[in-house]
Amino acid sequence: MRKILVSECLYGGRIVRYDGGDVHETNEVFLKWKEEGRLIPICPEVFGGLPIPRPDSQRVGDRVQTGAGKDVTEPYTIGAEETLRLAKEHDVAFAIMKQDSPSCGSKFIYDGTFTDTKKEGQGLAVEYLRNAGFRVFAEEDLPEAEEYLRSLEV
Ligand code: SF4
Repeated sequence: MRKILVSECLYGGRIVRYDGGDVHETNEVFLKWKEEGRLIPICPEVFGGLPIPRPDSQRVGDRVQTGAGKDVTEPYTIGAEETLRLAKEHDVAFAIMKQDSPSCGSKFIYDGTFTDTKKEGQGLAVEYLRNAGFRVFAEEDLPEAEEYLRSLEV
């Protein structure tokens, strides 16, 4: 049975988001995969050593910064490396990562101006996964992910 890497805030059970909030996924396919033991949860930012809650941060060029201008690229990079290490260790079929995050976003991220503006882009952990050849889906693309998994397991 192939494993699937997922953002820990989608997995549920442990509060990991920067704002101390929770966004656990309730889609029935996701819950079935969870029940089957397929899902490997990871929060890149917590694995990178950042606290909960933590300052809102965004990708700014090739760096990651808080709204106050503090450079937090190093913990984000450590988290991205750990995410990739786990993906390889479990030979995951793909990843499902939380949309819009500077670590986990796979289609859109905030644009680095801290004005609540999004742009096309990806988070740092997703960048590491894709550069290593892993496919990444957003949580809104679960039907596509399910079809992809089926194609891998025929
Ligand atoms: S870094 Fe990813 S897993 Fe962690 S809280 Fe943010 S979106 Fe969720």
